[in-house]
Amino acid sequence: MQVPLLDLRPQYAALKEEILAEIASICDSQRFILGPKVEEFEAALAAYCRSGAAVGVTSGSDALIIALMAEGIGAGDEVITSTFTFFATAGAIARVGAKPVFADIDPATFNIDVADAERKITARTKAIIPVHLFGQCADMDPILELARSRKLIVIEDACQAIGAEYRGKRAGSMGDYGAFSFFPSKNLGCFGDGGAVSCRSEETAKKLKIFRNHGQSDTYFHRFIGGNFRLDALQAAILTIKLRHLDDWSEARRRNAKHYNELFAAAGLEGKIGTPAEASYPVRHIYNQYCIKVAGGKRDALKQFLADRGVGCAVYYPLPLHLQPCFAELGGKAGDMPVAEKVAGEILALPIYGETAPEQRAFVVDSIAEFLK
Ligand SMILES: *Cc1c(COP(=O)(O)O)cnc(C)c1O
Repeated sequence: MQVPLLDLRPQYAALKEEILAEIASICDSQRFILGPKVEEFEAALAAYCRSGAAVGVTSGSDALIIALMAEGIGAGDEVITSTFTFFATAGAIARVGAKPVFADIDPATFNIDVADAERKITARTKAIIPVHLFGQCADMDPILELARSRKLIVIEDACQAIGAEYRGKRAGSMGDYGAFSFFPSKNLGCFGDGGAVSCRSEETAKKLKIFRNHGQSDTYFHRFIGGNFRLDALQAAILTIKLRHLDDWSEARRRNAKHYNELFAAAGLEGKIGTPAEASYPVRHIYNQYCIKVAGGKRDALKQFLADRGVGCAVYYPLPLHLQPCFAELGGKAGDMPVAEKVAGEILALPIYGETAPEQRAFVVDSIAEFLK
Protein backbone atom coordinates (compact mmCIF):
# COMPACT_ATOMS: atom_id res chain seq x y z
CA MET A 1 0.00 0.00 0.00
CA GLN A 2 1.23 3.50 -0.86
CA VAL A 3 0.26 6.45 1.35
CA PRO A 4 1.68 9.67 -0.06
CA LEU A 5 2.08 12.61 2.29
CA LEU A 6 -0.11 14.65 -0.08
CA ASP A 7 -1.81 13.89 -3.39
CA LEU A 8 -3.74 16.80 -4.90
CA ARG A 9 -4.91 14.90 -7.99
CA PRO A 10 -8.26 13.64 -6.60
CA GLN A 11 -9.17 17.18 -5.45
CA TYR A 12 -8.37 18.50 -8.94
CA ALA A 13 -10.26 15.68 -10.69
CA ALA A 14 -13.46 16.67 -8.86
CA LEU A 15 -13.26 20.29 -10.07
CA LYS A 16 -11.43 19.84 -13.36
CA GLU A 17 -14.19 20.85 -15.80
CA GLU A 18 -15.20 23.93 -13.84
CA ILE A 19 -11.61 25.12 -13.43
CA LEU A 20 -10.58 24.50 -17.04
CA ALA A 21 -13.65 26.40 -18.31
CA GLU A 22 -12.71 29.36 -16.12
CA ILE A 23 -9.09 29.27 -17.30
CA ALA A 24 -10.24 29.14 -20.94
CA SER A 25 -12.49 32.16 -20.46
CA ILE A 26 -9.66 34.21 -18.90
CA CYS A 27 -7.33 33.18 -21.73
CA ASP A 28 -9.98 34.32 -24.24
CA SER A 29 -10.17 37.69 -22.50
CA GLN A 30 -6.33 37.97 -22.29
CA ARG A 31 -6.76 39.96 -19.04
CA PHE A 32 -4.32 38.40 -16.65
CA ILE A 33 -3.24 41.11 -14.21
CA LEU A 34 -5.56 42.09 -11.30
CA GLY A 35 -9.06 43.08 -12.53
CA PRO A 36 -12.50 41.65 -11.67
CA LYS A 37 -11.37 38.04 -11.02
CA VAL A 38 -8.95 39.22 -8.34
CA GLU A 39 -11.55 41.56 -6.83
CA GLU A 40 -14.14 38.78 -6.73
CA PHE A 41 -11.72 36.50 -4.90
CA GLU A 42 -10.69 39.23 -2.45
CA ALA A 43 -14.32 39.84 -1.50
CA ALA A 44 -15.00 36.11 -1.08
CA LEU A 45 -11.86 35.66 1.03
CA ALA A 46 -12.65 38.61 3.31
CA ALA A 47 -16.15 37.21 3.86
CA TYR A 48 -14.78 33.73 4.56
CA CYS A 49 -12.17 35.01 7.02
CA ARG A 50 -14.65 37.48 8.56
CA SER A 51 -12.06 40.23 8.12
CA GLY A 52 -12.74 43.80 7.00
CA ALA A 53 -10.95 43.37 3.68
CA ALA A 54 -8.43 41.22 1.83
CA VAL A 55 -5.81 41.94 -0.83
CA GLY A 56 -4.48 39.27 -3.19
CA VAL A 57 -0.69 39.08 -3.49
CA THR A 58 2.01 36.92 -5.04
CA SER A 59 2.70 34.58 -2.10
CA GLY A 60 2.41 34.14 1.65
CA SER A 61 5.96 35.39 2.02
CA ASP A 62 5.05 38.58 0.17
CA ALA A 63 1.87 38.91 2.25
CA LEU A 64 4.08 39.19 5.35
CA ILE A 65 6.47 41.59 3.61
CA ILE A 66 3.74 43.92 2.36
CA ALA A 67 2.08 44.10 5.80
CA LEU A 68 5.44 45.06 7.34
CA MET A 69 6.03 47.63 4.55
CA ALA A 70 2.58 49.18 5.03
CA GLU A 71 3.48 49.76 8.69
CA GLY A 72 6.80 51.35 7.73
CA ILE A 73 8.73 48.68 9.64
CA GLY A 74 12.38 48.50 8.62
CA ALA A 75 15.94 49.25 9.69
CA GLY A 76 16.34 49.75 13.44
CA ASP A 77 13.04 48.00 14.25
CA GLU A 78 12.56 44.65 15.94
CA VAL A 79 9.78 42.16 15.26
CA ILE A 80 9.08 39.23 17.56
CA THR A 81 8.07 35.86 16.17
CA SER A 82 8.25 32.16 16.91
CA THR A 83 11.54 30.33 16.39
CA PHE A 84 9.54 27.28 15.27
CA THR A 85 7.92 28.19 11.95
CA PHE A 86 8.55 28.07 8.24
CA PHE A 87 11.53 30.24 7.33
CA ALA A 88 9.44 32.86 5.48
CA THR A 89 8.00 34.30 8.71
CA ALA A 90 11.43 35.50 9.83
CA GLY A 91 12.75 35.94 6.30
CA ALA A 92 10.09 38.61 5.67
CA ILE A 93 11.19 40.55 8.77
CA ALA A 94 14.82 40.48 7.65
CA ARG A 95 13.88 41.32 4.04
CA VAL A 96 12.37 44.68 5.08
CA GLY A 97 15.57 45.44 7.03
CA ALA A 98 14.19 44.81 10.52
CA LYS A 99 15.58 42.41 13.11
CA PRO A 100 13.77 39.13 13.79
CA VAL A 101 13.65 38.44 17.54
CA PHE A 102 12.73 34.87 18.39
CA ALA A 103 10.56 33.47 21.16
CA ASP A 104 10.22 29.85 22.27
CA ILE A 105 7.03 27.81 21.83
CA ASP A 106 4.35 26.13 23.89
CA PRO A 107 5.09 22.36 23.99
CA ALA A 108 1.45 21.34 23.43
CA THR A 109 0.43 23.57 20.50
CA PHE A 110 3.90 24.39 19.06
CA ASN A 111 2.75 28.03 18.93
CA ILE A 112 4.53 31.06 20.35
CA ASP A 113 5.05 31.13 24.13
CA VAL A 114 3.47 34.48 24.95
CA ALA A 115 5.37 34.91 28.23
CA ASP A 116 8.66 34.43 26.38
CA ALA A 117 7.54 36.88 23.66
CA GLU A 118 6.82 39.44 26.38
CA ARG A 119 10.33 39.02 27.81
CA LYS A 120 11.77 39.79 24.36
CA ILE A 121 10.08 43.20 24.00
CA THR A 122 12.45 46.19 23.88
CA ALA A 123 12.05 49.90 23.06
CA ARG A 124 12.67 48.97 19.40
CA THR A 125 9.94 46.32 19.15
CA LYS A 126 7.33 47.38 16.58
CA ALA A 127 5.35 44.23 15.87
CA ILE A 128 4.68 40.65 16.81
CA ILE A 129 3.97 37.88 14.30
CA PRO A 130 2.21 34.93 15.93
CA VAL A 131 2.12 31.89 13.63
CA HIS A 132 -0.92 29.58 13.64
CA LEU A 133 1.27 26.54 13.11
CA PHE A 134 -0.04 23.40 11.37
CA GLY A 135 -3.56 24.91 11.31
CA GLN A 136 -4.12 25.62 15.00
CA CYS A 137 -4.39 29.19 16.26
CA ALA A 138 -1.90 30.71 18.68
CA ASP A 139 -3.33 31.96 21.98
CA MET A 140 -4.46 35.29 20.54
CA ASP A 141 -6.15 36.97 23.55
CA PRO A 142 -2.95 37.39 25.60
CA ILE A 143 -1.05 38.31 22.42
CA LEU A 144 -3.58 41.02 21.53
CA GLU A 145 -3.57 42.26 25.12
CA LEU A 146 0.23 42.45 25.11
CA ALA A 147 0.16 44.29 21.78
CA ARG A 148 -2.43 46.74 23.07
CA SER A 149 -0.50 47.55 26.22
CA ARG A 150 2.90 47.83 24.46
CA LYS A 151 1.57 49.47 21.26
CA LEU A 152 2.67 46.73 18.88
CA ILE A 153 1.26 45.81 15.48
CA VAL A 154 0.00 42.21 15.26
CA ILE A 155 0.47 40.35 11.97
CA GLU A 156 -1.02 36.86 12.11
CA ASP A 157 0.91 34.37 10.00
CA ALA A 158 -2.16 32.39 8.94
CA CYS A 159 -0.41 30.74 5.98
CA GLN A 160 -1.19 27.27 7.39
CA ALA A 161 -4.47 28.22 9.03
CA ILE A 162 -7.10 29.50 6.61
CA GLY A 163 -10.48 28.85 8.26
CA ALA A 164 -8.96 27.94 11.63
CA GLU A 165 -10.79 29.47 14.58
CA TYR A 166 -9.85 30.83 17.99
CA ARG A 167 -12.75 31.32 20.42
CA GLY A 168 -15.06 31.48 17.38
CA LYS A 169 -12.96 34.04 15.52
CA ARG A 170 -11.31 33.21 12.22
CA ALA A 171 -7.55 33.20 11.67
CA GLY A 172 -6.49 36.46 10.07
CA SER A 173 -9.39 38.48 11.52
CA MET A 174 -7.93 39.13 14.98
CA GLY A 175 -4.70 41.04 14.42
CA ASP A 176 -4.04 44.19 12.39
CA TYR A 177 -3.14 41.96 9.44
CA GLY A 178 -3.34 38.31 8.47
CA ALA A 179 -1.02 36.66 5.95
CA PHE A 180 -2.27 33.76 3.81
CA SER A 181 -0.44 31.48 1.41
CA PHE A 182 -2.01 29.59 -1.47
CA PHE A 183 1.04 27.45 -2.14
CA PRO A 184 -0.40 24.18 -3.50
CA SER A 185 0.16 22.19 -0.28
CA LYS A 186 -1.78 24.62 1.94
CA ASN A 187 -5.43 23.81 2.72
CA LEU A 188 -6.46 26.27 -0.01
CA GLY A 189 -3.87 26.02 -2.77
CA CYS A 190 -3.68 27.56 -6.23
CA PHE A 191 -1.87 26.29 -9.33
CA GLY A 192 1.44 27.96 -8.56
CA ASP A 193 2.29 30.65 -6.01
CA GLY A 194 -0.26 33.01 -4.51
CA GLY A 195 -1.12 34.74 -1.25
CA ALA A 196 -3.29 37.35 0.41
CA VAL A 197 -3.28 39.86 3.24
CA SER A 198 -6.37 40.41 5.36
CA CYS A 199 -6.87 43.63 7.27
CA ARG A 200 -9.53 45.46 9.27
CA SER A 201 -10.65 48.19 6.87
CA GLU A 202 -11.01 49.08 3.20
CA GLU A 203 -8.78 52.04 3.93
CA THR A 204 -5.89 49.80 4.97
CA ALA A 205 -6.60 47.55 1.98
CA LYS A 206 -6.24 50.57 -0.28
CA LYS A 207 -2.79 51.23 1.17
CA LEU A 208 -1.78 47.58 0.73
CA LYS A 209 -2.93 47.75 -2.90
CA ILE A 210 -0.63 50.74 -3.46
CA PHE A 211 2.32 48.76 -2.06
CA ARG A 212 1.29 45.75 -4.16
CA ASN A 213 1.75 47.84 -7.30
CA HIS A 214 5.16 49.54 -6.82
CA GLY A 215 3.81 52.13 -4.40
CA GLN A 216 1.93 53.72 -7.26
CA SER A 217 -0.99 55.88 -6.10
CA ASP A 218 -1.82 57.25 -9.55
CA THR A 219 -0.46 55.83 -12.79
CA TYR A 220 3.32 56.46 -12.77
CA PHE A 221 3.20 58.55 -9.58
CA HIS A 222 4.84 56.74 -6.66
CA ARG A 223 4.09 57.62 -3.07
CA PHE A 224 6.06 54.73 -1.62
CA ILE A 225 8.59 52.15 -2.76
CA GLY A 226 6.48 49.03 -3.04
CA GLY A 227 7.00 46.11 -5.35
CA ASN A 228 5.26 43.83 -7.79
CA PHE A 229 3.18 41.76 -5.40
CA ARG A 230 0.16 41.26 -7.67
CA LEU A 231 -1.98 38.12 -7.67
CA ASP A 232 -2.79 36.77 -11.17
CA ALA A 233 -6.37 36.66 -12.45
CA LEU A 234 -5.92 32.96 -13.29
CA GLN A 235 -4.87 32.08 -9.74
CA ALA A 236 -7.64 34.22 -8.27
CA ALA A 237 -10.30 32.52 -10.42
CA ILE A 238 -9.04 29.05 -9.42
CA LEU A 239 -9.05 30.11 -5.76
CA THR A 240 -12.62 31.45 -5.97
CA ILE A 241 -13.80 28.04 -7.21
CA LYS A 242 -11.77 26.11 -4.61
CA LEU A 243 -12.74 28.35 -1.69
CA ARG A 244 -16.34 27.05 -1.93
CA HIS A 245 -15.05 23.57 -1.03
CA LEU A 246 -12.53 24.55 1.62
CA ASP A 247 -14.74 23.82 4.62
CA ASP A 248 -15.50 20.31 3.31
CA TRP A 249 -11.79 19.64 2.82
CA SER A 250 -10.88 21.01 6.26
CA GLU A 251 -13.68 18.96 7.89
CA ALA A 252 -12.30 15.84 6.19
CA ARG A 253 -8.85 16.61 7.64
CA ARG A 254 -10.40 17.07 11.10
CA ARG A 255 -12.20 13.72 10.80
CA ASN A 256 -8.98 12.04 9.66
CA ALA A 257 -7.10 13.51 12.62
CA LYS A 258 -9.73 12.18 15.01
CA HIS A 259 -9.49 8.77 13.35
CA TYR A 260 -5.69 8.75 13.77
CA ASN A 261 -6.10 9.66 17.45
CA GLU A 262 -8.52 6.74 17.91
CA LEU A 263 -6.23 4.34 16.06
CA PHE A 264 -3.21 5.37 18.14
CA ALA A 265 -5.24 4.92 21.34
CA ALA A 266 -6.57 1.52 20.22
CA ALA A 267 -3.01 0.38 19.42
CA GLY A 268 -1.91 1.41 22.93
CA LEU A 269 0.58 3.88 21.47
CA GLU A 270 -0.65 7.01 23.19
CA GLY A 271 2.08 6.92 25.83
CA LYS A 272 4.79 6.06 23.31
CA ILE A 273 4.18 8.76 20.77
CA GLY A 274 2.71 12.22 21.24
CA THR A 275 -0.45 12.80 19.23
CA PRO A 276 -1.27 16.43 18.39
CA ALA A 277 -2.78 18.16 21.40
CA GLU A 278 -5.70 20.49 20.93
CA ALA A 279 -5.15 23.78 22.70
CA SER A 280 -6.60 24.43 26.16
CA TYR A 281 -8.59 27.32 24.63
CA PRO A 282 -11.45 26.69 22.18
CA VAL A 283 -10.13 26.22 18.64
CA ARG A 284 -11.05 24.86 15.26
CA HIS A 285 -7.85 23.13 14.17
CA ILE A 286 -7.79 22.70 10.38
CA TYR A 287 -4.87 20.24 10.35
CA ASN A 288 -2.74 21.57 7.54
CA GLN A 289 -0.40 19.06 9.17
CA TYR A 290 -1.01 16.21 11.61
CA CYS A 291 2.25 15.98 13.56
CA ILE A 292 3.19 13.33 16.08
CA LYS A 293 6.15 13.45 18.45
CA VAL A 294 8.54 10.52 18.66
CA ALA A 295 10.85 10.67 21.66
CA GLY A 296 14.06 8.81 22.47
CA GLY A 297 15.98 9.78 19.33
CA LYS A 298 13.90 7.40 17.19
CA ARG A 299 12.23 9.93 14.91
CA ASP A 300 14.60 9.75 11.95
CA ALA A 301 14.67 5.94 12.03
CA LEU A 302 10.85 5.85 12.08
CA LYS A 303 10.72 8.28 9.16
CA GLN A 304 12.99 5.98 7.14
CA PHE A 305 11.00 2.89 8.21
CA LEU A 306 7.76 4.51 7.01
CA ALA A 307 9.32 5.72 3.76
CA ASP A 308 10.52 2.15 3.05
CA ARG A 309 6.92 0.96 3.46
CA GLY A 310 5.55 3.59 1.08
CA VAL A 311 4.26 6.01 3.73
CA GLY A 312 5.12 9.64 3.02
CA CYS A 313 6.07 11.70 6.05
CA ALA A 314 8.07 14.87 6.66
CA VAL A 315 9.81 16.87 9.36
CA TYR A 316 8.45 20.38 9.86
CA TYR A 317 10.91 21.75 11.00
CA PRO A 318 14.25 20.13 11.78
CA LEU A 319 16.12 23.29 12.87
CA PRO A 320 14.54 26.21 14.79
CA LEU A 321 15.19 29.59 13.22
CA HIS A 322 17.44 30.97 15.99
CA LEU A 323 19.95 28.25 15.02
CA GLN A 324 19.84 28.79 11.23
CA PRO A 325 23.20 29.78 9.72
CA CYS A 326 21.70 32.84 7.98
CA PHE A 327 20.69 34.26 11.38
CA ALA A 328 24.03 33.48 13.08
CA GLU A 329 24.81 37.16 13.52
CA LEU A 330 21.74 37.51 15.73
CA GLY A 331 23.66 35.42 18.25
CA GLY A 332 21.24 32.53 18.83
CA LYS A 333 22.78 29.43 20.39
CA ALA A 334 21.74 25.89 21.25
CA GLY A 335 19.91 25.88 24.56
CA ASP A 336 18.33 29.32 24.06
CA MET A 337 14.91 27.87 23.12
CA PRO A 338 14.74 24.49 24.84
CA VAL A 339 11.15 23.62 23.93
CA ALA A 340 11.51 24.33 20.19
CA GLU A 341 14.87 22.55 20.07
CA LYS A 342 13.39 19.42 21.66
CA VAL A 343 10.28 19.45 19.44
CA ALA A 344 12.44 19.87 16.30
CA GLY A 345 14.10 16.55 17.11
CA GLU A 346 10.84 14.67 17.73
CA ILE A 347 8.23 15.97 15.32
CA LEU A 348 6.92 14.01 12.32
CA ALA A 349 4.04 14.90 9.96
CA LEU A 350 1.82 12.06 8.68
CA PRO A 351 -0.51 11.99 5.64
CA ILE A 352 -3.73 13.82 6.59
CA TYR A 353 -5.25 15.17 3.36
CA GLY A 354 -8.99 14.69 2.89
CA GLU A 355 -9.00 11.91 0.30
CA THR A 356 -6.91 9.39 2.28
CA ALA A 357 -8.82 6.18 3.01
CA PRO A 358 -9.38 4.75 6.52
CA GLU A 359 -7.34 1.67 5.52
CA GLN A 360 -4.42 3.92 4.66
CA ARG A 361 -4.49 5.51 8.11
CA ALA A 362 -4.73 2.07 9.71
CA PHE A 363 -1.69 1.01 7.68
CA VAL A 364 0.27 4.06 8.88
CA VAL A 365 -0.58 3.38 12.54
CA ASP A 366 0.10 -0.38 12.21
CA SER A 367 3.47 0.43 10.67
CA ILE A 368 4.35 2.78 13.53
CA ALA A 369 3.25 0.11 16.06
CA GLU A 370 5.48 -2.43 14.34
CA PHE A 371 8.45 -0.07 14.41
CA LEU A 372 8.00 0.66 18.12
CA LYS A 373 7.44 -2.93 19.27
C1 LIG B 1 3.83 28.56 3.52
C2 LIG B 1 4.17 29.50 4.64
C3 LIG B 1 4.64 30.80 4.41
C4 LIG B 1 5.01 31.30 3.06
O1 LIG B 1 4.09 31.16 2.07
P1 LIG B 1 4.55 31.11 0.52
O2 LIG B 1 3.27 31.27 -0.21
O3 LIG B 1 5.21 29.79 0.29
O4 LIG B 1 5.48 32.24 0.27
C5 LIG B 1 4.84 31.62 5.49
N1 LIG B 1 4.62 31.20 6.75
C6 LIG B 1 4.19 29.96 7.01
C7 LIG B 1 3.94 29.54 8.42
C8 LIG B 1 3.97 29.06 5.96
O5 LIG B 1 3.57 27.82 6.24
